Amino acid sequence: MGVYVVTGSASGMGAAVVEKLRSAGNTVIGVDLRSADVVADLSTATGRRAAIDGVLAASGGTLDGAVLAAGLGPAPGADRPALIVEVNYFGVVDLLEGWHDALASAERAKVVVFSSNSTTTMPAVPGRAIRAMLAGDSGKAVKATRLFGKNAPAMAYGASKIAVSRWVRRQAVTARWAGAGIRLNAIAPGAILTPLLERQLATPDEAKAIRSFPVPIGGFGVPSQLAEWVVFMLSDAADFLCGSVVFVDGGSDAWFRADDW
Ligand code: NAD
Repeated sequence: MGVYVVTGSASGMGAAVVEKLRSAGNTVIGVDLRSADVVADLSTATGRRAAIDGVLAASGGTLDGAVLAAGLGPAPGADRPALIVEVNYFGVVDLLEGWHDALASAERAKVVVFSSNSTTTMPAVPGRAIRAMLAGDSGKAVKATRLFGKNAPAMAYGASKIAVSRWVRRQAVTARWAGAGIRLNAIAPGAILTPLLERQLATPDEAKAIRSFPVPIGGFGVPSQLAEWVVFMLSDAADFLCGSVVFVDGGSDAWFRADDW
């Protein structure tokens, strides 16, 4: 049995992962804005520091795994692009940097970051925003999405998920991460029926776009299905998995990109 941290533990897929890990007898430290072991706002540097320190204190300095599920969807709103960049990108990267030594001390630690199939299916995501995030410049990243007007939150979302996936793949293979025995991987869900998706479906324009998006299997995924994949990616069976982005999306990525191999 291990000690795991799960961000976004209060809702949706994060909550489903917590339930499965706990029911298998693991210790789980949940991080969220509310109803969590460590309550912290990952949209600010101060909140991220509190999350890092709170988890290190609660874990005793060793983490067998981390699941980074906290995230915001592309809802409308002028301040939304900044929140998306802060939570979806820096709320992953800053926390993992802060927990690096605790993960290394477990020797075979596993990390699963929530990406999205929007990384390969959303057109025209601004490369400048992606590069700015990877360079640590949130202000520049947000500015690069503003040009898109009412589509700025969608572009910030797509860019945040591409940037975080690229960060996972770049770092996964380094001496600092792979060399320390830490497996960094990402999961890329399609449309999963969680409170995040329900909020989008409540907006007629967004609902129309979501329902017309090609999903070969049809319908939506459910949080417990995704949680099974995450638990597998945290298990010993995933020892040889490193720097992979696993798409669990009902076939949308294959529909768009079957010949990209
Ligand atoms: P959800 O809204 O049900 O859960 C997300 C959790 O993140 C919530 O508990 C929320 O409080 C937390 N969170 C948000 N902002 C935070 C902040 N500032 N500080 C701390 N916690 C914060 O969403 P979900 O659908 O379970 O999403 C989980 C992850 O999967 C997200 O990263 C999301 O982008 C990604 N994703 C979701 C879908 C989908 O269709 N649901 C598809 C692809 C990717």
